[in-house]
Amino acid sequence: MGDPSPLSIDTIVSLAKRRGFIFPGSAIHGGLANSWDYGPLGVELKNNIKQLWWDRFVHRRDDIVGIDAALIMNPKVWEASGHLKEFSDPLVECKKCHERFRSDLIVLSAPCSSCGATGSFTEPRAFNMMLKTFLGPAEEKANEVFFRPETAQAMFVDFKQVLDTSRIRLPFGIAQIGKAFRNEITPGNFIFRTREFEQMEIEYFISEKEWEKWFEHWREEMHSWIASLGIQANRIHELEVPDGERAHYSRRTIDFEYDFPFGRKELYGLAYRTDFDLRNHFYEAPYKDPETNEAFYPHVIEPTWGVDRTVLAVLCDAYTEVEDRLVLKLPPSLVPYKAAVFPLLANKPQLVDFARKIYNALRKEFMVAWDDRGNIGKRYYSQDEIGTPYCVTVDFDSLEKEDATVRNRDSGEQIRLPVDRLAAHIRNSLRT
Ligand code: ATP
Repeated sequence: MGDPSPLSIDTIVSLAKRRGFIFPGSAIHGGLANSWDYGPLGVELKNNIKQLWWDRFVHRRDDIVGIDAALIMNPKVWEASGHLKEFSDPLVECKKCHERFRSDLIVLSAPCSSCGATGSFTEPRAFNMMLKTFLGPAEEKANEVFFRPETAQAMFVDFKQVLDTSRIRLPFGIAQIGKAFRNEITPGNFIFRTREFEQMEIEYFISEKEWEKWFEHWREEMHSWIASLGIQANRIHELEVPDGERAHYSRRTIDFEYDFPFGRKELYGLAYRTDFDLRNHFYEAPYKDPETNEAFYPHVIEPTWGVDRTVLAVLCDAYTEVEDRLVLKLPPSLVPYKAAVFPLLANKPQLVDFARKIYNALRKEFMVAWDDRGNIGKRYYSQDEIGTPYCVTVDFDSLEKEDATVRNRDSGEQIRLPVDRLAAHIRNSLRT
């Protein structure tokens, strides 16, 4: 068993805020509970995660295609999918202070965590988590619509259009990255549980007899994705979700849990959704076997990834204290800046000009930081905190030798490299 991370979530929240990864949302207007904005470094980290995912599962495979569907869909979608009826969490209320909780996440015989009263919870009732709004000027029932609570349904609804417009045949997948909304009863733990979040999902369509094989395939793919993020394998745990606790559509589910600072919690999920969704959306079997011409409803394996939970897990996992320094040991493929370039002294124009040349050349290919403030030690410290893998320093010898000193974030080792080899050095570190 992996040791739970000794980190406190407050440490991550404060680093994220201080360095511009993630800020509290609407802060100057008093904030909005559990809403967070990704800042300049956070958006790079998040985009890198999404880009790597898309490359790995859409671009590098010939059996998966992508879509980008509307966030608001016809309410009939949610009727057919079962969400309007079934997508609920059990809610209880403290009879004394009226604080609300998810009854499956608390111990009902324990005191209320808000006011301390004992034995005073109401009976659990189902609370639907669909986030409602109205389209058009009149706030009436006919205009009622819902923000999607998962990206998945669009892949089912668009199934036939994808099939008809691409040459893809079973087994194949449809992938999507996008926002989802849930009116969570108890959001919290920073970006772990929010009411607006992002998902990366694949609906992988198969014939029923092959479901176990493809379930296994995706289980392995998920572990290999997690490894590519640099997350320590001993902090990941599979949880076989038992009968009675699975979502209404699932015949088998594995949760991939991570040891977050606040406990072991779901990071990703893998579900066998059977043919539940396509049957509910399509009156007629939407797929014809190209050889037998037999029409049938494909079955579905769904691996699903939360983007924000990925950001949180990689930040927690990469956070390393080395003596008095903080180093964010993110894999180079994820870091916002692939390198930082410094002139040794900011008041020597020759050094600044030469360093600027290197900076401008590297920027054609990578996100690169420039820093000429303070001393070199402070600049290293600052780049370590945001995970920059290489610091490239220009000194007087560089002018003569056309080289620079490259310091490695993790080992602290410094080597001199000819200027024309810098880009290749950085590029090599990005291979995953
Ligand atoms: P939980 O049990 O934590 O509520 P879930 O089982 O309802 O999660 P899924 O419906 O399987 O979650 O959603 C797929 C993925 O989307 C989750 O594995 C998670 O990474 C992410 N996710 C779900 N709900 C939230 C949320 N409120 N905030 C952030 N990410 C979320």
